[in-house]
Amino acid sequence: MISNITADYRARDAAHHLHPFSEMRALNAEGSRVVVRGEGSWIWDSDGRRALDGMSGLWCVNIGHGRREIAAAVTRQMAELSYTNTFFKSTHPPAIALAEKIATLTQPHLSHVFFTGSGSEANDTVVRMVRHYWAERGKPAKQVIISRRNAYHGSTMAGASLGGMKPMHAQGGLPIPGIVHRAQPYWFGEGGEMSPEEFGIAAARDIEAAIEEIGEDNIAAFIAEPIQGAGGVIIPPETYWPEIARILAGREILTVADEVICGFGRTGRWFGSDFFGIRPDLMSIAKGLSSGYLPIGGVVVSSAVAEVLSANEFNHGFTYSAHPVCCAAALENLRILEEERLVDRVAEEIGPYLQRGWRALADHPLVGEARMVGLIGALELVPDKPSRSVAFPDTGKVGTLARDLSIANGLVMRAVRDSLIIAPPFTLSFEEADFLLAAARKTLDDTLDAARRLGLKA
Ligand SMILES: *Cc1c(COP(=O)(O)O)cnc(C)c1O
Repeated sequence: MISNITADYRARDAAHHLHPFSEMRALNAEGSRVVVRGEGSWIWDSDGRRALDGMSGLWCVNIGHGRREIAAAVTRQMAELSYTNTFFKSTHPPAIALAEKIATLTQPHLSHVFFTGSGSEANDTVVRMVRHYWAERGKPAKQVIISRRNAYHGSTMAGASLGGMKPMHAQGGLPIPGIVHRAQPYWFGEGGEMSPEEFGIAAARDIEAAIEEIGEDNIAAFIAEPIQGAGGVIIPPETYWPEIARILAGREILTVADEVICGFGRTGRWFGSDFFGIRPDLMSIAKGLSSGYLPIGGVVVSSAVAEVLSANEFNHGFTYSAHPVCCAAALENLRILEEERLVDRVAEEIGPYLQRGWRALADHPLVGEARMVGLIGALELVPDKPSRSVAFPDTGKVGTLARDLSIANGLVMRAVRDSLIIAPPFTLSFEEADFLLAAARKTLDDTLDAARRLGLKA
């Protein structure tokens, strides 16, 4: 039963609020889930039902919900200095401290940070920055950025263009010129008869083929998420990143790691680049930088790139670049991550524990693959196990069904095509992990029943 309060919220939401990435008519007919409170790993809806937030909001609330320390840090900063700009020969203590802190957490050659309000703005900045960088070095023809199909780099004009999502390109006249999309290292979906190791090499060699076709003299950068998040938690085969490193070594092509999801501990290392042995020239950051408490992102660059960018004015910036209150939230978040050793906890304690239980879900008749690194994972649902080549009819139907059943079982998972994905908070307790695994298994059972009723599965 839906309370009057919820019915009222829904009616007003439907009347005035356009949601991102939503079919509004269908959503309004069904009614939005109204989330009113968060504490630790849990969120509560307007009817008092709680659910384990298996997605950390949108891959961001890494230290869990409702941390009073962040609220206190933000309140202090607002009272001290709520806003000042960093454009006109100005700076402020939270920006200084945060840039310095990020430089200590990243690989030694990464030294400088350009702040933005979000991950999309970070990637927009990347596009302008890498092209400007080559122009400054006297190579203005180096314009092309190589990305990958099914990548996600945000939703602004440049972010969505860098991304390889066809439905996004189809709206608004994208991609912008000079962006090329090549193979993704998605073995489960596209590996055919190859082993994961063979396919990792093949997917990397497609990037090499692109470089040869386009010509190094025309290429500014290669951008990639260490693990594709929104694309479906695509964890590349072990051979992929070393082969990419071999291909890019000695070539004048900047490596950009989009660390918006992987950054700040999601893999059990501070950055996905550290986990996979990537040596990026630039890194996009956001989400976990502030655990989503306030919007902030940035581009971290190497000292070599910073040196080139420092010679002349870079005509780029946002009113809220290095917003003092957002910087204060991020600093407090990083303090908590360090003080509570949460990144090590992902690597050594809760990560391995959840991974063991998650991989055990692979014995379920619906599950074609159960994969997880750190605290980011996916379940591939298939109609005809063990075949990877047979998909459910009407892609996405079973995934969405499973996602809705999961929420009914008290666990927020997200559906991508016909897979389920999770990225829970680093503060997840062992008991909560057990709850998550039990709810996931019940969801698989419920989905199997529903799929059989609908004739989608024998
Ligand atoms: C979420 C995301 C972005 C976009 O960040 P926003 O803050 O939503 O603009 C960019 N890249 C990756 C890998 C992301 O997951």
